[in-house]
Amino acid sequence: MNKQLKIALVAHDNRKADMVEWAEYNAEMLSQHKLICTGTTGRLIKEAFDRRGIDVEITCMNSGPMGGDAEIAALVVRHQIDLAVFLIDDLNPQPHEADIQMLLRQCRVHNVPIACNRYSADLMITSHLWDVDTYKPSEPRYIKFERE
Ligand code: PGA
Repeated sequence: MNKQLKIALVAHDNRKADMVEWAEYNAEMLSQHKLICTGTTGRLIKEAFDRRGIDVEITCMNSGPMGGDAEIAALVVRHQIDLAVFLIDDLNPQPHEADIQMLLRQCRVHNVPIACNRYSADLMITSHLWDVDTYKPSEPRYIKFERE
């Protein structure tokens, strides 16, 4: 990929092992981009990259429950995120459920690709569309449906 992306990475506690493994697997590729993470996710990824001697630009927001997801959602609203990988713990309730829903919703509203599992993340980061200048993603339309 030639384009440098701003990639948001967020993983709930029980998904952090998956996130770190995914980031390590894709370390060479991710090091070409700018990473924006919630606090603990970012720290763990940075430590994993440091261990491998891979230099990567990581911006750490607050921890998720303290507003990190909300900060990333604000960046989505300002079109400062190209892609989000959000590994949600779907098996346990989270104290910041409202912020989780906000991040998901703002990605949908602003047409930002968001991968909520590793397979989706792999497909998104390997898409050739990132480098196709003529490809313009169509924005979501909200058109009232009149039932007959
Ligand atoms: P964390 O936040 O990376 O600071 O743990 C993630 C989250 O719980 O949303």
